[in-house]
Amino acid sequence: MLTHEFVEFMPDVIDEGKIYVSIDYSTAVHKCACGCGKEVVTPLSPTDWKLIFDGKTVTLEPSIGNWGFPCRSHYWVRNNRAVWAEDWSQARVNANRARDRRTKDEYYGTGNKGEAIPPESDIPAAARPWWRRLLPW
Ligand SMILES: [Zn+2]
Repeated sequence: MLTHEFVEFMPDVIDEGKIYVSIDYSTAVHKCACGCGKEVVTPLSPTDWKLIFDGKTVTLEPSIGNWGFPCRSHYWVRNNRAVWAEDWSQARVNANRARDRRTKDEYYGTGNKGEAIPPESDIPAAARPWWRRLLPW
């Protein structure tokens, strides 16, 4: 069970089991729910996390995946409760990061210039039609 506190500035010491929410700075901070003591910063924005305050408890959407921490904990904060979610494979983490980046690019209109489509010569032979593999011309 977590508690929440609305603050203007984040305090120097983040208490275990407490979610600090700064509306002024559109940020929430809490210590990793696994107890490892790492601070988790969740920026609040249309493309990051949403904070739902029902008058009594807070909920963060989407889930919090601490893939950068040794604990790799993954949980939801729902109604001031940490609800454990499954561990993700690195492939799924990467796919989610890529999707995140695309969402941001679309939202901020920066376009997606980072990923070039490989020229045909880079496509492995197996991806070419069978007749081009059989006939070397
Ligand atoms: Zn942790």
